[in-house]
Amino acid sequence: MEIVNGFKLMDYAKEHQLVLPAFNTTNYELTAGIIKGYQEMGLGGYIAISSSNLKLSNPKIIADMVRSTMIECDTPIALHLDHGKSFEDVKACIDAGFTSIMVDASHLPLDQNIAEVRKAVEYCHFYGIPVEAELGAISGKEDDHISEEDAKTDPADVLSFVEETGCDLLAVSIGNVHGMDLSPHLDFPLLKEIAEISTVPLVLHGGSGIPFDQVRRAKAENLIKVNYGSDLRQAFIRTFGQAYEQNHNEFNVMQLSKDAIANVEERVKTIIKEVNIN
Ligand SMILES: [Zn+2]
Repeated sequence: MEIVNGFKLMDYAKEHQLVLPAFNTTNYELTAGIIKGYQEMGLGGYIAISSSNLKLSNPKIIADMVRSTMIECDTPIALHLDHGKSFEDVKACIDAGFTSIMVDASHLPLDQNIAEVRKAVEYCHFYGIPVEAELGAISGKEDDHISEEDAKTDPADVLSFVEETGCDLLAVSIGNVHGMDLSPHLDFPLLKEIAEISTVPLVLHGGSGIPFDQVRRAKAENLIKVNYGSDLRQAFIRTFGQAYEQNHNEFNVMQLSKDAIANVEERVKTIIKEVNIN
């Protein structure tokens, strides 16, 4: 199957009442493990890469790799830019064939956040691509960027932010954090309040650290997407680390890469299953 348009994937989620995972990739092994996991579970979702990971491989390399790896897959997958840090990154990803975009300008004052998102929305909508924006800063380690602020989404800003930016999905900060080691305390009353105000579906970042029952609980509040990064990265790194611990002369990169793909696939299948058990 070809990479699916982000709006079509949102329709698919609503039609099947799913919370779609967005799995972050960095390299071929993660990409292959994610796509195999989707295929085995027979459910669709996002494969994502963040602006900071694009320092390693450019958008075209990622899009070409995802496209080639998806040929045998028959479930819908959209290719998403996660935490798009600049308008240049947004344009480069659209040019490369990404089908869903996130603009992260949440570190800026509200009026500048709105202006940045609005600019990207005008560009992306011309190409029929949806845009996710973030209101309130999500703390924790976000790839190579460590954000210390803990600014929850202010419900008073939600409606005007969504209307003025024209965004299609809203990433909320309700106590969720990036990474695995922190114990997040999700503010469900706040999530409910935001969901009642927002005219677009909501997104939860930092899925790796959130217990599955809390993700399922959040699903009732117009949650359409939940992001997973650290979880799969650990599955990948652990494969090589354990092999090296067992044998300091290990050199079979190909076999370990295949093992890493299988381990990533297992985590992907578990997450897909757990977030959608009713
Ligand atoms: Zn994030």
